[in-house]
Amino acid sequence: MTIVSHHGPSQDGTNQFPDRLPGKADRALAPSLRRGFLCRCPNCGRGRLFGRFLKTVPSCATCGEIMDHHRADDAPPYFTMLLVGHITIPVILAVQMRTTLSDMAFLAICLPLSGFLALALLQPIKGATVALQWALRMHGFGDNSTEMTEFAEPPETIEPH
Ligand SMILES: [Zn+2]
Repeated sequence: MTIVSHHGPSQDGTNQFPDRLPGKADRALAPSLRRGFLCRCPNCGRGRLFGRFLKTVPSCATCGEIMDHHRADDAPPYFTMLLVGHITIPVILAVQMRTTLSDMAFLAICLPLSGFLALALLQPIKGATVALQWALRMHGFGDNSTEMTEFAEPPETIEPH
């Protein structure tokens, strides 16, 4: 029985998986997500991920991992709204069924709470989104050298006759 390893170079020395750099450990997803949710660098877990509220630092001050590659875009607000909606709507329905608050009093309590919850979750969710992209080597977080060689090769030129 032959055991075939799916990691690293094959027996003839060629790398079967060029997207994996030799000597680079795989990036574990769960610890990366936890570090990102805590607004820490997904690589080392010590450096800060954000310089301002939603602005990531260019690179980690502790380990030097470059953070500019992320393309979180609209995903963090979407995930935040999804989560806040799933937390607040059952609470709002349960409270409304058990109390006799007026609609205006109810709105005066629920709207600020929903807004505060959304603001509180937005940065951790963006951190987890960046960490997810880092762990999956998405965008520029992957192997820069192979991505650069794809673009570095000049297009074939047609010789004029
Ligand atoms: Zn770091």
